[in-house]
Amino acid sequence: MALDIVTLRIAFALMAFVLMLLFYFWTYRPTRSPYSGWWCVALLSYLAGSACFLLNRTIHQVWANPSGNVLLVCGGLAVWAGARSLRTAGVRRWAFFGVPLATLSASVLDNPAVNVWSGGPVFLAAMSFTFAMTSWELWRLDSGYSTHRLPMAAVSGALAGFYVLRLLVFLQEGQNGPHFVSFFGPAVTTLVTAVMLVVSSFSMASLSSEQQMRTLATAASRDGLTGLLNRTAFLDLGARQLDPSAKTGACGALIMADLDHFKSVNDTHGHAAGDAALRFFAQACTAAVRSTDLVGRYGGEEFVLLIPGASADTAEAITRDINRHFAAAPMPSGANVPTVSYGISTYSGEATHLAELMVKADTALYTAKSGGRNRAVRSDGRPGIRRAE
Ligand code: GH3
Ligand code: MG
Ligand code: MG
Repeated sequence: MALDIVTLRIAFALMAFVLMLLFYFWTYRPTRSPYSGWWCVALLSYLAGSACFLLNRTIHQVWANPSGNVLLVCGGLAVWAGARSLRTAGVRRWAFFGVPLATLSASVLDNPAVNVWSGGPVFLAAMSFTFAMTSWELWRLDSGYSTHRLPMAAVSGALAGFYVLRLLVFLQEGQNGPHFVSFFGPAVTTLVTAVMLVVSSFSMASLSSEQQMRTLATAASRDGLTGLLNRTAFLDLGARQLDPSAKTGACGALIMADLDHFKSVNDTHGHAAGDAALRFFAQACTAAVRSTDLVGRYGGEEFVLLIPGASADTAEAITRDINRHFAAAPMPSGANVPTVSYGISTYSGEATHLAELMVKADTALYTAKSGGRNRAVRSDGRPGIRRAE
């Protein structure tokens, strides 16, 4: 059965157009998720690319053929960029400019006025590259994303393989070779791509809304002023870290920090200076610990840190480090950096509940306050060292 390539291309373009409209109005507009945005760009590029190929064997072929190649490659790059956006990675600039430029150059230099396969090998290699990269991105995406990404990863992988085979057969027997025309020619490719487009669109819609959900979840877990975890998120993540049923036998420390006489910073220098001090203190905490430790704003001018693996000595060293960073903060209009009181509790071996640790650290913090402030006190009773004023 001979497949009519013009009819197939028109059907493909129509399908890409309808999908693009559906995605734009029902997924991109309401969610504004970068993933669905890139998918719209990809569909538009595929649409325009296929439209260009309709001008093959007309006087317009000389510009339409290289343009078609470049647009299809750009479509593949947009899908790849969308996949990268799922883990908030930016686009690869070298690929975004280099791959279309290489495709265009190869096409223009390969007699596009009469050759409908101008720059064929470079175009086929570029297409397999974009599909392979998309598939790789989706497979390695952390497991927090649902399995909806898997059909898309499989489709991209299959397309990458299909384009590699096309390239090999094209190089072997040329554009008029019997196997190339029967199995890898434009008619079969258009048909295969159309089927793949439908499968991808299925996983695309759910990935877009997942991306939006994750953005909202991140915003809801952060404190607006300092960017640290808010109280609820800290308690949630801390409880998971210490899950008593996990029986890891791990040890660690919890530090509660409270800025001393903070009310007077607000009263003397204004609320903005107070806010600045809170932000600087948050930065000092983040600078003093590893990115995997939990740092939260517990309330007003109280902060809490959970440091797995730390002993009481290590936790105390961390409070000194926080003080050192905080003391260097550029406070506004002559305001002094406030001193800080800390309460430290530790856990080791046996199952521990976060609430228990918090109560112990809070009691130690109370001791630090009543002992004159500006110090770290351990729940085991050993007093800490004051910051030089
Ligand atoms: P102590 O040494 O006993 O901890 O005294 P303190 O003044 O630090 O404690 P107190 O609880 O009396 O006052 C806490 C102050 O923190 C009062 C409140 O206005 C201020 N505060 C709480 N949240 C914020 C905030 O987001 N921004 C600013 N600028 N101030 C805040
Ligand atoms: Mg307080
Ligand atoms: Mg205070």
